[in-house]
Amino acid sequence: MQTLKDGKTYAIRIYKDAELVETVHQFLRDNRITSGSITGIGATDDVTIGYFDIVKKEYVHKQFREPFEILSLMGNVSLVDNDPFAHLHIILGREDFSTIGGHLVKANISVTCEIYLTAFDIRIERIFDPETNLKLLNI
Ligand code: ZN
Repeated sequence: MQTLKDGKTYAIRIYKDAELVETVHQFLRDNRITSGSITGIGATDDVTIGYFDIVKKEYVHKQFREPFEILSLMGNVSLVDNDPFAHLHIILGREDFSTIGGHLVKANISVTCEIYLTAFDIRIERIFDPETNLKLLNI
């Protein structure tokens, strides 16, 4: 991974074969980031995404093993039990130019991943919401 900092904004390059979500979480922990905004592009060849079933109140996960371009990675940073947490969504492009997308669970980087992350100077926490069974932003 390569990183460069400009004020509160970081440019992050994640190398081939790194796992995207864990790499982002380790970066957030290492830099004590408590809230912020994430955007990224890149490529993956093994990705697990989720869809939240609002009736069952749980995520349905699905793994895809094929070459994708990461057309849009976006998300936010908050704290869950005082640990930085990146809530990430992703849109993936296939060879035939169709797309799939969802809540990002994990992704193996196949070429590169280019992330720009802006850290905020505030603490934003998530707390458990029994109605949805989700940890929602508490602002
Ligand atoms: Zn989500």
